[in-house]
Amino acid sequence: MLDAYGRKITYLRLSVTELCNLRCRYCMPEDGVCKKRHEEMLTEEEMLCAVEAAASLGVTKLRITGGEPLVKRNILSICRRTAAVEGIGEVCLTTNGLLLPQLAQPLREAGVRRVNLSLDTLDEKKYTYITRRGSLRQALDGLEAALDAGFERVKINTVLIGGFNDDEIPALARLTQQYPVDVRFIELMPMYDSGDFGPRAYLPGSVVTEHLPELKPQPDGDGVAKLYRLPGALGNIGIISPISAHFCGACNRIRLTADGKLKPCLHSTLEYSVKGLDFAGMQALLRQVILEKPRWHGELSADHRSQAGRNMNEIGG
Ligand code: SAM
Ligand code: SF4
Repeated sequence: MLDAYGRKITYLRLSVTELCNLRCRYCMPEDGVCKKRHEEMLTEEEMLCAVEAAASLGVTKLRITGGEPLVKRNILSICRRTAAVEGIGEVCLTTNGLLLPQLAQPLREAGVRRVNLSLDTLDEKKYTYITRRGSLRQALDGLEAALDAGFERVKINTVLIGGFNDDEIPALARLTQQYPVDVRFIELMPMYDSGDFGPRAYLPGSVVTEHLPELKPQPDGDGVAKLYRLPGALGNIGIISPISAHFCGACNRIRLTADGKLKPCLHSTLEYSVKGLDFAGMQALLRQVILEKPRWHGELSADHRSQAGRNMNEIGG
């Protein structure tokens, strides 16, 4: 379905939980989330119904995210059932990777085709600092498990954080020479109360090409990343610049949060509850939300935080 600005909406991001086994400083508060009542959260049946309704309107790609989707008890069933929905050509998943050693193979068997794994540093101490509790070894074991499980593509997501990982851009990029992975550098987005990352923490995506003059531009892919490649690499380097070069004109996605709110834009205040709707109601609301998708997300900077009123774990990154 086309939105009011002629953008074809083909991509749904489904957050299956707000909970997480990490506490990344730019994503969620140290004391975690205020646990909501079970009845407030979407059931598996409601998720499935929303995906079926979205597919009936032309959504072909589904990304399962969170919070950390792999802490969700019924994650395999959600993946298996959504992957079987008619019209959904591709189910992908974004994870911090810690539980992939146990779950990579079953996820692949459940029909997940691609996995994105978040990794902001290759330094053990810095990893534990930024995630407030994680172990780099576990994340790297997760990466190995994803590669062994035979996903069609494995991508690494790295949030660029000034004074934290700018010195590691070359080492992180070299993962594409070591493994058949893409590494995508993402500009830090100032969310609702996602830590005190001031103006110095924000780095424009252009720092990546400044650190790596040997990068060769590649033809655009089907996503929002600008693509490059290191000599002899097995995968691409992507730069995703929601702030310095926002891609709202090419945005093809809508989001459904774990507490059942349809969001036409990551950063807008607009959200509509799907709780209790049947297929027809879900389809009608999806139509409305697609037509209300804003033209762009409004200014974002250290001084202009996202208007979403939620942190990333409560939306689904
Ligand atoms: N827990 C999973 C993970 O970390 O991959 C999935 C959810 S997480 C919210 C999805 C992605 O959003 C991660 O790659 C994370 O780094 C990114 N993210 C979270 N907060 C962000 C922020 N303030 N700015 C930019 N990216 C952010
Ligand atoms: Fe959890 Fe992912 Fe947010 Fe980190 S970025 S706190 S792993 S949801």
